[in-house]
Amino acid sequence: MDIRAVRTQGNGCKGLVFRAHVSRYVSGGRICERRELRLLKRESCPGCKECGWIFDSQAEDLSNGCGVSLDNLEDGALYRLTGSGTPDHETGIVDWIEWDLSKVDIGA
Ligand SMILES: [Zn+2]
Repeated sequence: MDIRAVRTQGNGCKGLVFRAHVSRYVSGGRICERRELRLLKRESCPGCKECGWIFDSQAEDLSNGCGVSLDNLEDGALYRLTGSGTPDHETGIVDWIEWDLSKVDIGA
């Protein structure tokens, strides 16, 4: 891992923007609920200097879990995933990223 980005928010980087989909359905005699966030590529950061291509470099990590809660997803709402970390003062490398999911106000 070799990231020099420290923060994806508040510096012009858009982070990753997702739309929430929450659905309930009956299948095989079970009532199920599906919660997911679908990436909106055009609204999201494609990788930039500000975030140091954090999402690309962390893709594997993120696929193993990003620690954000999906408990309060609102169907149809937009959410932004951002990450922040503090670089080691000697190496300048961030070895731990804290992910945060926040709701995006439409039009903001
Ligand atoms: Zn970015």
